[in-house]
Amino acid sequence: MPFLWVVLLAVMTLSACGPAASDRDPTAAGGAEPAAGRGVREWAHKGEALAPRVPAAEELKLATGISHSMAVPILMYHYIRVNPVPDDRVGAGLSVTPEHFSAQMDALAARGVHSITPTQLVYAMQVGAPLPPNPVILTFDDGYADFATTAVPILVAHHFVAVSYVITGKIGTPNYMTAEQLKQVEAVGMVIGAHTVHHLALAKVSPASANAEIVQSKAALEQLLGHPVVDFCYPFGSFNAQVVAMVQAAGFLDAVTTVAGLSHPPATVFTLTRQRVGGGDTVENVLQKASL
Ligand SMILES: [Zn+2]
Repeated sequence: MPFLWVVLLAVMTLSACGPAASDRDPTAAGGAEPAAGRGVREWAHKGEALAPRVPAAEELKLATGISHSMAVPILMYHYIRVNPVPDDRVGAGLSVTPEHFSAQMDALAARGVHSITPTQLVYAMQVGAPLPPNPVILTFDDGYADFATTAVPILVAHHFVAVSYVITGKIGTPNYMTAEQLKQVEAVGMVIGAHTVHHLALAKVSPASANAEIVQSKAALEQLLGHPVVDFCYPFGSFNAQVVAMVQAAGFLDAVTTVAGLSHPPATVFTLTRQRVGGGDTVENVLQKASL
Protein backbone atom coordinates (compact mmCIF):
# COMPACT_ATOMS: atom_id res chain seq x y z
CA MET A 1 0.00 0.00 0.00
CA PRO A 2 2.28 2.74 -1.26
CA PHE A 3 -0.09 5.52 -0.22
CA LEU A 4 0.09 4.53 3.41
CA TRP A 5 3.85 4.50 3.21
CA VAL A 6 3.79 8.02 1.87
CA VAL A 7 1.52 9.08 4.73
CA LEU A 8 3.69 7.24 7.21
CA LEU A 9 6.83 8.84 5.91
CA ALA A 10 5.16 12.24 6.07
CA VAL A 11 4.14 11.62 9.68
CA MET A 12 7.63 10.44 10.53
CA THR A 13 9.26 13.40 8.87
CA LEU A 14 6.97 15.88 10.58
CA SER A 15 7.42 14.18 13.92
CA ALA A 16 11.15 14.10 13.52
CA CYS A 17 11.38 17.77 12.62
CA GLY A 18 8.57 19.46 14.49
CA PRO A 19 8.83 20.80 18.02
CA ALA A 20 5.78 18.76 19.02
CA ALA A 21 7.81 15.58 18.84
CA SER A 22 9.76 16.36 21.97
CA ASP A 23 6.76 17.71 23.86
CA ARG A 24 4.30 14.97 23.20
CA ASP A 25 4.45 11.88 25.32
CA PRO A 26 2.83 9.18 23.22
CA THR A 27 2.93 6.65 26.04
CA ALA A 28 -0.57 5.31 26.08
CA ALA A 29 -0.16 2.79 28.87
CA GLY A 30 -1.07 5.45 31.37
CA GLY A 31 -4.43 5.86 29.69
CA ALA A 32 -3.66 8.98 27.69
CA GLU A 33 -5.52 9.18 24.44
CA PRO A 34 -2.98 9.09 21.63
CA ALA A 35 -2.66 12.04 19.36
CA ALA A 36 -4.57 11.74 16.13
CA GLY A 37 -2.36 9.99 13.67
CA ARG A 38 -3.15 8.73 10.25
CA GLY A 39 -0.38 6.49 9.01
CA VAL A 40 0.58 4.31 11.90
CA ARG A 41 -2.84 3.63 13.36
CA GLU A 42 -4.22 2.49 10.05
CA TRP A 43 -1.05 0.70 9.27
CA ALA A 44 -1.01 -2.16 11.75
CA HIS A 45 -3.77 -1.82 14.28
CA LYS A 46 -5.30 -4.93 15.81
CA GLY A 47 -4.26 -7.06 12.89
CA GLU A 48 -6.69 -5.36 10.57
CA ALA A 49 -4.06 -4.26 8.12
CA LEU A 50 -2.58 -7.30 6.47
CA ALA A 51 -0.32 -5.37 4.15
CA PRO A 52 3.39 -5.54 4.94
CA ARG A 53 3.94 -3.56 8.11
CA VAL A 54 7.70 -3.72 7.94
CA PRO A 55 9.48 -0.48 7.20
CA ALA A 56 12.75 -0.28 5.39
CA ALA A 57 15.65 0.27 7.73
CA GLU A 58 16.47 3.41 5.76
CA GLU A 59 13.11 4.89 6.68
CA LEU A 60 13.68 4.43 10.37
CA LYS A 61 17.05 6.14 10.13
CA LEU A 62 15.10 9.35 9.54
CA ALA A 63 14.42 9.24 13.25
CA THR A 64 18.01 9.15 14.39
CA GLY A 65 18.56 11.10 17.55
CA ILE A 66 15.02 10.95 18.90
CA SER A 67 14.00 8.47 21.54
CA HIS A 68 11.13 8.37 23.98
CA SER A 69 10.67 6.30 27.09
CA MET A 70 7.68 4.01 26.74
CA ALA A 71 5.78 1.78 29.15
CA VAL A 72 4.44 -1.03 27.02
CA PRO A 73 4.14 -4.57 28.43
CA ILE A 74 5.71 -7.20 26.22
CA LEU A 75 4.36 -10.59 27.28
CA MET A 76 6.53 -13.64 26.62
CA TYR A 77 4.92 -16.99 25.87
CA HIS A 78 6.37 -20.30 24.69
CA TYR A 79 4.00 -23.26 24.27
CA ILE A 80 0.20 -22.94 24.14
CA ARG A 81 -0.65 -26.56 24.92
CA VAL A 82 -1.48 -29.02 27.62
CA ASN A 83 1.95 -30.10 28.81
CA PRO A 84 2.29 -33.62 27.39
CA VAL A 85 4.72 -34.90 30.03
CA PRO A 86 3.45 -33.99 33.50
CA ASP A 87 6.80 -34.81 35.11
CA ASP A 88 8.57 -32.35 32.83
CA ARG A 89 8.68 -29.33 35.13
CA VAL A 90 10.48 -27.14 32.60
CA GLY A 91 7.93 -28.03 29.95
CA ALA A 92 5.11 -27.36 32.40
CA GLY A 93 6.51 -23.95 33.22
CA LEU A 94 6.73 -23.05 29.53
CA SER A 95 3.26 -24.39 28.67
CA VAL A 96 0.09 -22.31 28.98
CA THR A 97 -3.02 -24.38 28.30
CA PRO A 98 -5.28 -23.24 25.46
CA GLU A 99 -8.05 -22.73 28.01
CA HIS A 100 -5.90 -20.49 30.17
CA PHE A 101 -4.52 -18.64 27.19
CA SER A 102 -8.00 -17.95 25.88
CA ALA A 103 -9.07 -16.67 29.29
CA GLN A 104 -5.99 -14.43 29.42
CA MET A 105 -6.81 -12.96 26.01
CA ASP A 106 -10.42 -12.43 27.14
CA ALA A 107 -9.11 -10.53 30.14
CA LEU A 108 -6.77 -8.38 28.05
CA ALA A 109 -9.59 -7.56 25.66
CA ALA A 110 -11.87 -6.69 28.58
CA ARG A 111 -9.23 -4.21 29.80
CA GLY A 112 -9.24 -2.48 26.43
CA VAL A 113 -5.87 -3.80 25.33
CA HIS A 114 -4.75 -3.12 21.79
CA SER A 115 -2.00 -5.43 20.65
CA ILE A 116 0.80 -3.75 18.76
CA THR A 117 3.92 -4.95 17.00
CA PRO A 118 7.51 -4.32 18.11
CA THR A 119 7.93 -2.11 15.07
CA GLN A 120 5.08 0.08 16.25
CA LEU A 121 6.84 0.41 19.60
CA VAL A 122 10.04 1.36 17.81
CA TYR A 123 8.19 4.04 15.88
CA ALA A 124 6.72 5.35 19.09
CA MET A 125 10.10 5.43 20.82
CA GLN A 126 12.15 6.73 17.91
CA VAL A 127 9.69 8.96 16.11
CA GLY A 128 7.03 9.79 18.66
CA ALA A 129 4.38 8.03 16.60
CA PRO A 130 1.09 7.57 18.47
CA LEU A 131 0.04 4.23 19.89
CA PRO A 132 -3.48 2.99 20.55
CA PRO A 133 -4.74 2.94 24.16
CA ASN A 134 -3.46 0.19 26.45
CA PRO A 135 -0.85 -1.18 24.05
CA VAL A 136 0.54 -4.65 24.72
CA ILE A 137 2.98 -6.73 22.65
CA LEU A 138 2.36 -10.48 22.60
CA THR A 139 5.45 -12.58 21.85
CA PHE A 140 5.95 -16.32 21.38
CA ASP A 141 9.44 -17.80 21.44
CA ASP A 142 10.90 -20.64 19.38
CA GLY A 143 8.33 -21.05 16.59
CA TYR A 144 6.47 -24.05 17.98
CA ALA A 145 3.74 -25.62 15.86
CA ASP A 146 1.11 -24.88 18.50
CA PHE A 147 1.52 -21.19 17.76
CA ALA A 148 -0.09 -21.83 14.36
CA THR A 149 -2.55 -24.51 15.40
CA THR A 150 -3.64 -23.24 18.81
CA ALA A 151 -2.52 -19.70 19.64
CA VAL A 152 -3.28 -18.00 16.34
CA PRO A 153 -6.98 -18.98 16.16
CA ILE A 154 -7.44 -17.57 19.68
CA LEU A 155 -5.46 -14.43 18.82
CA VAL A 156 -7.45 -13.87 15.63
CA ALA A 157 -10.73 -14.31 17.53
CA HIS A 158 -9.61 -11.48 19.79
CA HIS A 159 -8.32 -9.31 16.93
CA PHE A 160 -4.83 -9.49 18.44
CA VAL A 161 -1.54 -9.57 16.59
CA ALA A 162 1.51 -11.36 17.96
CA VAL A 163 5.13 -12.05 17.11
CA SER A 164 6.58 -15.51 16.73
CA TYR A 165 10.36 -15.66 17.06
CA VAL A 166 11.44 -18.56 14.89
CA ILE A 167 14.52 -20.80 15.17
CA THR A 168 15.17 -21.20 11.48
CA GLY A 169 17.08 -24.48 11.81
CA LYS A 170 13.97 -26.03 13.37
CA ILE A 171 11.44 -25.04 10.70
CA GLY A 172 9.50 -28.10 9.59
CA THR A 173 10.89 -30.40 12.29
CA PRO A 174 8.59 -32.14 14.81
CA ASN A 175 6.81 -29.70 17.14
CA TYR A 176 7.89 -26.66 15.12
CA MET A 177 6.02 -24.72 12.46
CA THR A 178 6.52 -25.63 8.86
CA ALA A 179 7.43 -23.09 6.21
CA GLU A 180 3.82 -23.20 5.05
CA GLN A 181 2.54 -22.48 8.55
CA LEU A 182 4.86 -19.49 8.84
CA LYS A 183 3.30 -18.05 5.70
CA GLN A 184 -0.19 -18.86 6.92
CA VAL A 185 0.17 -17.13 10.28
CA GLU A 186 1.69 -14.13 8.57
CA ALA A 187 -1.23 -14.04 6.15
CA VAL A 188 -3.64 -13.57 9.07
CA GLY A 189 -1.64 -10.70 10.49
CA MET A 190 1.01 -12.27 12.72
CA VAL A 191 4.64 -11.15 12.63
CA ILE A 192 7.59 -13.48 12.19
CA GLY A 193 10.85 -12.57 13.90
CA ALA A 194 14.22 -14.29 14.04
CA HIS A 195 15.54 -16.33 16.97
CA THR A 196 18.82 -17.54 15.40
CA VAL A 197 19.44 -20.73 13.40
CA HIS A 198 20.41 -23.12 16.21
CA HIS A 199 19.15 -21.38 19.36
CA LEU A 200 22.61 -20.61 20.71
CA ALA A 201 23.40 -18.38 23.68
CA LEU A 202 24.96 -15.62 21.63
CA ALA A 203 27.05 -14.07 24.39
CA LYS A 204 28.68 -17.42 25.06
CA VAL A 205 29.75 -18.44 21.56
CA SER A 206 32.45 -16.94 19.37
CA PRO A 207 31.64 -13.58 17.78
CA ALA A 208 31.86 -15.23 14.36
CA SER A 209 29.31 -17.87 15.36
CA ALA A 210 27.03 -15.31 16.94
CA ASN A 211 27.11 -13.15 13.85
CA ALA A 212 26.44 -16.10 11.57
CA GLU A 213 23.43 -17.12 13.69
CA ILE A 214 22.03 -13.60 13.53
CA VAL A 215 22.65 -12.93 9.84
CA GLN A 216 21.71 -16.38 8.54
CA SER A 217 18.43 -16.61 10.45
CA LYS A 218 17.41 -13.23 9.07
CA ALA A 219 18.32 -14.23 5.53
CA ALA A 220 16.53 -17.58 5.74
CA LEU A 221 13.29 -15.99 6.91
CA GLU A 222 13.50 -13.22 4.36
CA GLN A 223 14.00 -15.70 1.56
CA LEU A 224 11.02 -17.71 2.78
CA LEU A 225 8.68 -14.80 3.41
CA GLY A 226 9.82 -12.44 0.67
CA HIS A 227 10.22 -9.28 2.75
CA PRO A 228 12.53 -7.79 5.40
CA VAL A 229 12.47 -9.46 8.81
CA VAL A 230 13.28 -6.82 11.40
CA ASP A 231 12.43 -8.27 14.82
CA PHE A 232 14.94 -10.34 16.79
CA CYS A 233 14.92 -12.33 20.03
CA TYR A 234 18.06 -13.42 21.93
CA PRO A 235 17.97 -17.17 22.75
CA PHE A 236 18.15 -17.75 26.51
CA GLY A 237 18.13 -13.97 26.83
CA SER A 238 21.87 -14.13 26.20
CA PHE A 239 23.36 -10.89 24.88
CA ASN A 240 26.15 -8.40 25.44
CA ALA A 241 27.16 -5.13 23.83
CA GLN A 242 28.92 -6.89 20.97
CA VAL A 243 25.91 -9.10 20.23
CA VAL A 244 23.58 -6.10 20.33
CA ALA A 245 25.81 -4.30 17.84
CA MET A 246 25.73 -7.34 15.55
CA VAL A 247 21.93 -7.49 15.64
CA GLN A 248 21.73 -3.82 14.82
CA ALA A 249 24.31 -4.08 12.04
CA ALA A 250 22.44 -7.02 10.50
CA GLY A 251 19.51 -4.70 9.82
CA PHE A 252 17.10 -5.60 12.59
CA LEU A 253 15.09 -2.73 14.04
CA ASP A 254 14.45 -4.15 17.50
CA ALA A 255 15.27 -7.06 19.79
CA VAL A 256 13.68 -8.54 22.90
CA THR A 257 15.43 -9.98 25.96
CA THR A 258 14.26 -12.05 28.91
CA VAL A 259 14.99 -9.24 31.34
CA ALA A 260 11.80 -8.55 33.29
CA GLY A 261 10.31 -5.10 33.01
CA LEU A 262 7.50 -2.98 31.68
CA SER A 263 9.21 0.25 30.78
CA HIS A 264 11.50 0.87 27.85
CA PRO A 265 13.86 3.79 28.45
CA PRO A 266 15.15 5.77 25.48
CA ALA A 267 17.54 3.94 23.19
CA THR A 268 16.66 0.45 24.39
CA VAL A 269 14.99 -0.86 21.25
CA PHE A 270 17.62 -3.62 21.02
CA THR A 271 17.31 -4.65 24.67
CA LEU A 272 13.55 -4.60 25.20
CA THR A 273 12.34 -6.05 28.49
CA ARG A 274 9.55 -8.63 28.69
CA GLN A 275 7.18 -10.15 31.20
CA ARG A 276 7.25 -13.95 31.25
CA VAL A 277 3.93 -15.82 31.27
CA GLY A 278 4.10 -19.48 32.21
CA GLY A 279 2.02 -22.45 33.16
CA GLY A 280 1.60 -21.34 36.74
CA ASP A 281 0.11 -17.95 35.94
CA THR A 282 -3.51 -17.12 36.64
CA VAL A 283 -5.42 -14.50 34.70
CA GLU A 284 -4.87 -12.15 37.63
CA ASN A 285 -1.11 -12.78 37.47
CA VAL A 286 -1.06 -11.93 33.81
CA LEU A 287 -3.01 -8.71 34.30
CA GLN A 288 -0.63 -7.79 37.09
CA LYS A 289 2.41 -8.56 34.95
CA ALA A 290 0.96 -6.34 32.24
CA SER A 291 0.14 -3.63 34.81
CA LEU A 292 -3.50 -3.67 33.72
ZN1 LIG B 1 14.10 -19.56 22.66
